[in-house]
Amino acid sequence: MELIYEKSQAGRRAGRVPSYDLPVPEVPAALARTSPPRLPELAENEIVRHFTSLADRNFGIDTGFYPLGSCTMKYNPRVNERVVALPGFANLHPHQEDDGAQGALELMWELQEILSEVAGLPAVTLQPAAGSQGELTGLMLMRAYFADRGEGEQRDTIITADTAHGTNPASVTMAGYKLEKVATTERGNLDLDDLRAKVNERTAGLMLTNPSTVGLFDEGIAEVADIFHENGALLYYDGANLNAVVGRSRPGDMGFDIVHYNLHKTFSQPHGGGGPGGGPVAVRADLEPFLPSPQVVRDGDVFRLDRDRPKSIGRVRGFAGPFGVFVRSYAYMRAYGPDLQAMSETAVLNANYLLAELKDDYEVAYDRLCMHEFVLSARALKKEYGVTALDIAKRLMDYGVHPPTIYFPLVVPEALMIEPTETEPKERLDAFISVMKTIAREAAENPELLKGAPHSRPVRRLDEVKAAKEPIVKHAFAERVPTGA
Ligand SMILES: *Cc1c(COP(=O)(O)O)cnc(C)c1O
Repeated sequence: MELIYEKSQAGRRAGRVPSYDLPVPEVPAALARTSPPRLPELAENEIVRHFTSLADRNFGIDTGFYPLGSCTMKYNPRVNERVVALPGFANLHPHQEDDGAQGALELMWELQEILSEVAGLPAVTLQPAAGSQGELTGLMLMRAYFADRGEGEQRDTIITADTAHGTNPASVTMAGYKLEKVATTERGNLDLDDLRAKVNERTAGLMLTNPSTVGLFDEGIAEVADIFHENGALLYYDGANLNAVVGRSRPGDMGFDIVHYNLHKTFSQPHGGGGPGGGPVAVRADLEPFLPSPQVVRDGDVFRLDRDRPKSIGRVRGFAGPFGVFVRSYAYMRAYGPDLQAMSETAVLNANYLLAELKDDYEVAYDRLCMHEFVLSARALKKEYGVTALDIAKRLMDYGVHPPTIYFPLVVPEALMIEPTETEPKERLDAFISVMKTIAREAAENPELLKGAPHSRPVRRLDEVKAAKEPIVKHAFAERVPTGA
C-alpha cells in the first residue's frame, strides 16, 4: 500500500502521473456539520474479533455435512480456486477482444462440447446464470420455435409434475404460459393416464426433472416423450438433478429437446445464498438458431463470439455468462477426466447407502432404489410422539449437521429430503447415520428435547413467519463490543 503510494507520489512529482486534485465543491452552510460525527472509537483487534466471531457462526460445506436435498451442496475442491485465480483468467477484461481472449474462449467452447455430450444434444448456450434462468431461457426458446412455425398463438400451456421444484411454475408463468400439473403415481412416476388426458394441440411442452425431486428415475419416460412428440409439443429437462445420471444416461436419448444444467450443483462451485451460479442450456439441432447471442464458436484453430444470429432470442446475461463458474466446473470435469460417470455412480451409491441404513428407523416415502437423493417422512414419528420434520431438522444442528430440505416435495407429508453427494467419505456418512438413529431414539424417549432444539446454537428456535414478515434489520455493532465499564 505504502509503496504504491510512494511510487505514485514520485511519479506525480516527475510529471508522469496526472493529478486528480479536483476543486472541492462548496457545501451549503445550512447543511454543513457544526460538530464532529460520533464515530465508534475501537481498537483494531476488537473489530477483528467481532467479525471473526460472526464468521465462526457461519455454516458451510467446509464446516460440516450439508445433506440439503435438491441443492446438491457438494464440496468445491481447492484446486478449482487455484485455477480460477490464474492471472490469465482472473485479470481478463469482459470487453477484451476475441483475439486476446483465446484461452478463455477455448475453455468455454470445450465446456460446451462436454455439456453437449453429457446431454446428448448438439448445441449449447452458456449464458444463463442459474437453473431458474436456464428454465426461462428454455421456455423463451420454445416460444421462438413455435412462433417461427406459426403455432405461437395456439400453443399456450406447459405441463409440469406435482413434485416440480418451485422455480418450474414460476418460470412457466414468467414466460407467459399457462400451467397444468400432472399427478405422480404411488411408485413416483408420472401418471400416464392423467398425462394423456391433458396433452393436446394447445400444449407447448413438458417441464420435468428426471430423476424427479423425490430422487426417482421415471420408468415411463420413453412413453412420456412419445405422448408429447405425437402432439407436436416439446420436452424440457430441468437438469438440476443431472448429478445422478452424468455418463450413464442422457436426457437427449430419453427424448428431451431442451435441457438446462445447474453447473453449481452438478459440477461443483460454492453456491447458495443467491449465487453465483451457471445454468447453460442445450437444445436439439432445429432449435439451435434461436439460442441467445453471442455464441462461442470455433473456426479452425480460432475461437470467437458469434453475434450474427438473426433468429436468436437475444441476450439473457451480461457479456458471455458467469465465467468464474465455467472455470471451476471445467476444472471439476477435467479432474475426473474420462471417468466422469464415476461422479454420478458415487452420488447414487452414497444416497442408497444412507437410505438402506435409515429405513428401519424412519418411514420411507418411496420404497425402491433411489438416485442421488431420497425422501424420508416423519409422519409416523409425528403421530406417535408429536415430533415433526422441523424438530428433527433443528436437532440435527445440535450435532453439527446442516438440516436437510424439509416439507418439500409437497406430495410427501413431513418430508425430509436427503442428498449426501459424491464428495462425502464413508466415515462421514456413517457418522450421519449414527446421529439420525440417535435422534429417532430421542424422539421416542424424550420428544421435548427435540421440540426445544437447537440447544447449542447462538440462536434457538425462530418464529420464522414473524422474522420474514417483520424483519428487524439494524447495525448492532457498537452495542455488542464490551466497553469495560
Ligand atoms: C435448484 C433447482 C432449480 C433451480 O436452480 P437455481 O440455480 O437455484 O435457480 C430448479 N429445479 C430443481 C429440481 C432444482 O433442484
